[in-house]
Amino acid sequence: MTQKVLIINFEEIYLKGKNQKIFIKQLIRNLKRKLHAYQDYLQFTQAHGGSYFIEITKEIPEPVLEEIIYKVKNTPGITGFYVADTTGIAMDEIIEKAVEHAQKHTGEFNSFAVIGKRINKSVPYNSMELGRELGSAIHDRLHKKVDLTRPDFKLYVKVRSNYTIIYSKIIKGIGGLPVGTSGKAITMLSGGIDSPVASFMAMNRGLHLTAAHFHSVPKTSPQSIEKVKQLTRKLTDFQGQIKLYLIPVLDIQQAIAKHTDTRLRLILLRRIMLKIGERLAQEEKAKALVTGDSLGQVASQTLENMKATEDATDMLVIRPLVALDKKFIIETAKKIGTYDISILPHDDACSMFTPKSPETKAQLKYVREQCAKLPVEDLITKALENTEFVILSDTDSIKIDD
Ligand code: ATP
Ligand code: MG
Repeated sequence: MTQKVLIINFEEIYLKGKNQKIFIKQLIRNLKRKLHAYQDYLQFTQAHGGSYFIEITKEIPEPVLEEIIYKVKNTPGITGFYVADTTGIAMDEIIEKAVEHAQKHTGEFNSFAVIGKRINKSVPYNSMELGRELGSAIHDRLHKKVDLTRPDFKLYVKVRSNYTIIYSKIIKGIGGLPVGTSGKAITMLSGGIDSPVASFMAMNRGLHLTAAHFHSVPKTSPQSIEKVKQLTRKLTDFQGQIKLYLIPVLDIQQAIAKHTDTRLRLILLRRIMLKIGERLAQEEKAKALVTGDSLGQVASQTLENMKATEDATDMLVIRPLVALDKKFIIETAKKIGTYDISILPHDDACSMFTPKSPETKAQLKYVREQCAKLPVEDLITKALENTEFVILSDTDSIKIDD
């Protein structure tokens, strides 16, 4: 007999017409992967109307249930869900369970309503009688007032074929679309605040991400890589598993410093980063690159510079943050848990390479001329030869240190 059941809603997916089946299938696949460690407790059952059931088939410790709730809450595609208590279909069993359920919330309400429904028509009571019986039991035993028009607390009770579900609280999910339903992309992940947020937004629109981080070890510290691993690990809360490429760019930076106009350093480095991203995309069958660029956030993030950078690739470059202000980006970073990691003071391949007066309005023709001074292909080949990758997973533990 089921102990509890998680009932999941997916409104946005529901709007997708004939694609709906594909979206739900992907969502369930993602959820099953994320909840794999808990499979002994869980049984997935088919959608009932606009929802899906995950039954908890045996006694579950509260902390384990909390972990499961956290995973479900952070799965893109889920708008909201409830954790329902379950019991048998006899009236006295339902009363006991309903009172017990309401009792857990007694501090939070004075008035209540019971919304009772019997889906199983063979039980010896109808929906009205069900509501009335439960209403008077909660009134008598918990001393709360019935209010059918403006209750503080609504208790939903549904009698199904061989069990009853009882729930009250809707837990908000992060919504969006299931990871993987929009295809694959490479996200350019620095250790900063912006690119993790951009990555989250891309995943939440259904993109499956592979991350690329460019580092200048030994000029930058090994901790800077550790930090990006921690950020990637945090992002696996949403995607379950993320492959992170670590690409050394010190040689590239040295070549740029030696052969080109100082003011263009960053733009030239970014161009090569995008080109490397493009190679990784071919490897991963990804169709776009994601960056954390935000228009005007720093003096160098201008339309001219963005154009001069993305000119290096034919790939679609997605910038989820382009029109968002910093305050919103920071709030989002806090909400998704990347902020505290991002603000750890570690060095970065780009900031140590920033010239005193970087170009703010790059001229495309000049940028191309400067780029032509570099043995770009050789530099890329060498960087890729020395590229490593790690696969991070939401079962890895997170440590934040500095
Ligand atoms: P972030 O907070 O993501 O570092 P930022 O506001 O500091 O962004 P820039 O440093 O100008 O902006 O970088 C713009 C974008 O270029 C980043 O958001 C990221 O997508 C990409 N990028 C920059 N540095 C790196 C790096 N070392 N590795 C991977 N991507 C990078
Ligand atoms: Mg940065």
